[in-house]
Amino acid sequence: MDVSGKTAIITGGASGIGDALVRAMAGAGANVVIADLNGEAAKSLAAEVAGVGVTCDVTLEADIQSVVAEAEVRFGQVDLFVSNAGLGRGEPSHAASASNQVWQLNWDVHVMSHVYAARAVLPGMIERGDGYLVNMASAAGLLSQIGDAAYSATKHAAVSFAESLAIAHADDGIKVSVICPQYVATPLIGLNADDAVNTPALRTADQVAECVMDGIAKDRFLILPHEEVAQFVNLRAADRERWLQGMRGLRAKALHKFGELKLTDFYKLM
Ligand code: NAD
Repeated sequence: MDVSGKTAIITGGASGIGDALVRAMAGAGANVVIADLNGEAAKSLAAEVAGVGVTCDVTLEADIQSVVAEAEVRFGQVDLFVSNAGLGRGEPSHAASASNQVWQLNWDVHVMSHVYAARAVLPGMIERGDGYLVNMASAAGLLSQIGDAAYSATKHAAVSFAESLAIAHADDGIKVSVICPQYVATPLIGLNADDAVNTPALRTADQVAECVMDGIAKDRFLILPHEEVAQFVNLRAADRERWLQGMRGLRAKALHKFGELKLTDFYKLM
């Protein structure tokens, strides 16, 4: 899709990858609506890119409906919905140790928000025979994030839901992309763009945004800002036992080197 003149809602658009995507989309001529829990930051970025900033909790369906309604009032219709908001809470000890509350939060932010977005915009898109759903997952949705079972499980579910959308609605003229980056230098893992210099395992948010814009221009389903992820996915599919053995090795290495399993450390092992 050529995003010029189109209207895009971007959740989690006030920080990190979302912020970079907002700037890239606005730079390409799209009307942008930034929906974030941090409404102040969303509004301040909106002022920079002549967009609209809205306070929104993506775990609440009513909030997503309000953002869509506001975008329609301001710009007529929603052409792209980028469900990007996300979080990483880790787990205190064993793989089932995160609380029910944390599991539910992961589910609501990483999966239900994508369902609410699709539910809000699909009817109009189907009627027009055109529209784009861009869903942020993670390489953890194709492989697994060591030390965060809730993140891994819900990102797998996000990939699955994106596949369902792509299977069901291609004939309606709906495009779907799912983004599966490995480590990106953003506040989510306690980093900024400077940390990515001379660190091949890390991408900057701007690099990811560039890759996403290219994927959207080509209507590509699977967007992999780290090309090596495709190779790991093939390895896992070809020999699950061997892949698990490799992941156990990586986990042991992380424990040995850092003493604990923190999302913020793993890129140092890549
Ligand atoms: P970030 O922390 O910089 O930005 C996340 C944004 O989401 C923040 O502005 C936050 O306020 C917003 N947010 C969180 N919960 C929300 C909610 N309930 N409602 C509305 N907004 C909410 O993180 P990021 O790295 O830019 O992450 C963006 C997405 O990319 C996430 O889905 C994350 O899982 C995914 N991702 C990140 C990495 C990485 O290494 N940084 C890797 C793979 C995938």
